[in-house]
Amino acid sequence: MGCISTSRRRRQQNVKALVEGDQNVKCMHHIGGAYYVNVTSGFHCVDLRMFYQSYDAKDDTSIKPTKRGVALRLNEWSSLCTLIDTINASHPTLASAQPCYYDDDHMNQHGWLNCVECHPFLINLGQ
Ligand SMILES: [Zn+2]
Repeated sequence: MGCISTSRRRRQQNVKALVEGDQNVKCMHHIGGAYYVNVTSGFHCVDLRMFYQSYDAKDDTSIKPTKRGVALRLNEWSSLCTLIDTINASHPTLASAQPCYYDDDHMNQHGWLNCVECHPFLINLGQ
């Protein structure tokens, strides 16, 4: 299930439906580097948080949340979404920022897999 769409209005509706719906939902969306957005039914919030992976975790490659982040209530999330145009107008460099996957080094799988923004953590593909 896609949890975050590109349209602001649709994004707000999707998050509200996910959190207030009858289904059990746990949605985790990677937004770059070690940062993820989480929506979990029952918590009524959108959690923007940095994650980490233990260096000595040879068998356990799972990532864990840090204390660095913010959990926004649904009304706070909606307010933030309405401010995106204002933020972009005030900070043109943010508005014109392009994701790393548009760069030429992402045109092949090797370059994409070696990007630390796209793949900040050790991936254990053997298991
Ligand atoms: Zn990348």
